[in-house]
Amino acid sequence: MKFKSVFGYLSIALAFTALSSTTTSTAQNLQAASNYSQAHEDLLASQSHIQDQIKVDEVEEFASRLYEDLEPESDIFSICWINDGVDPYAGSGIPIPDKQEIDVSDYHMPCTSNLITSNYGYRRRFGRMHKGVDLRAPIGDTVRAAFDGKIRLTKYERRGYGYYVIMRHENGLETIYGHLSRFLVKPNDYVKAGDPIALSGNTGRSTGPHLHFETRFMGYAINPNAIFDFKNGTTHTDVYTFNKNSYKRSRNYAPASYSSSGKKYHKIRRGDSLSKIAVRYHTTVSKLCALNGISRNATIRAGRSLRVR
Ligand SMILES: [Zn+2]
Repeated sequence: MKFKSVFGYLSIALAFTALSSTTTSTAQNLQAASNYSQAHEDLLASQSHIQDQIKVDEVEEFASRLYEDLEPESDIFSICWINDGVDPYAGSGIPIPDKQEIDVSDYHMPCTSNLITSNYGYRRRFGRMHKGVDLRAPIGDTVRAAFDGKIRLTKYERRGYGYYVIMRHENGLETIYGHLSRFLVKPNDYVKAGDPIALSGNTGRSTGPHLHFETRFMGYAINPNAIFDFKNGTTHTDVYTFNKNSYKRSRNYAPASYSSSGKKYHKIRRGDSLSKIAVRYHTTVSKLCALNGISRNATIRAGRSLRVR
C-alpha cells in the first residue's frame, strides 16, 4: 500500500513536470525536440532518484519498526524451530523438565463451540492414543489462536490431521489444529491469542466436520482438559503445572474454585471493551464495574489489569 502511494505521487509529479516544460518551450526560441527530450530525461532521472531515496527508506524503516513491535524476541521461537514435523524436540537431546509452570492466563478458546465430541485418551478401537480433543465445529467455522505465538507449520496429511496448523507460544506450549478446510496464516506469522488462523473442516482422517485440538509441551501431548475448561470457556487456572508423570490427567473442578483467593484478573489488550471482557468471563458489565470501582463509560487501557472475579 505504502509503495503504491509513493509511485502514485511520483507519477503526478512527472505529469506536472512534463506539462510545465511544454508551456515554457512555446514562450522561448524553438529548439530541436531531441534537446528537450534529453533535458526531460535528466530531470526525471534525478527526481525519481530523490523520491526513491526518501520515501522508500522511510517506508521500510516504518515497516521494520512495526514488525519489531509485534514480535517479541524470545529463544522459544529459535530453539528447535522447524517448519516441519509434529514433534521438533524429538531427538534434539534437549532435556524435558519433570515439572514446569506454564502461564495460560492469556488464552482464547480455539473455536466457537466448546462441545467435545471425542475426548483425549487411548482408543481401543484404533489401538492408539487420541492426543487431543475433538470439538464440534461446522465446516468454515473460525479457528482461533489459543495463545499469543508464532505459526510453526501449516501442512496437509491425507491419512492424519488433514490440513493442520501448529503454533508455538511464548508460554512454551505448542497447539495443533487439525482437519481444517482453509489456512488463514502461513509459517512464521506472529499472531495474538484469539486471532483467526484457519477455518475448520473435515479433511484427513475425519468422520465428520470438527476441530481436532492438541496442547503439547516439548512434544508431550497434554490432555487439553487439564488446561482448558471447555464447558465454561475458560482455563482452570492462570498457571498450568506440567508434570511428566501426570500430564495425561484432566482436571474436573469447578471454575469458582480456581484460585485460592477467588479473585481473577484479565490483562487488558488493544480492542478490548468492558462488554467483550464480560462475555469472555461469563459475567456482566455491571459486575465488572462494581468489582473495579469504575463506571460503564470508563476508559480501559491496554496493558492494565481488570479484576473479573
Ligand atoms: Zn481428534
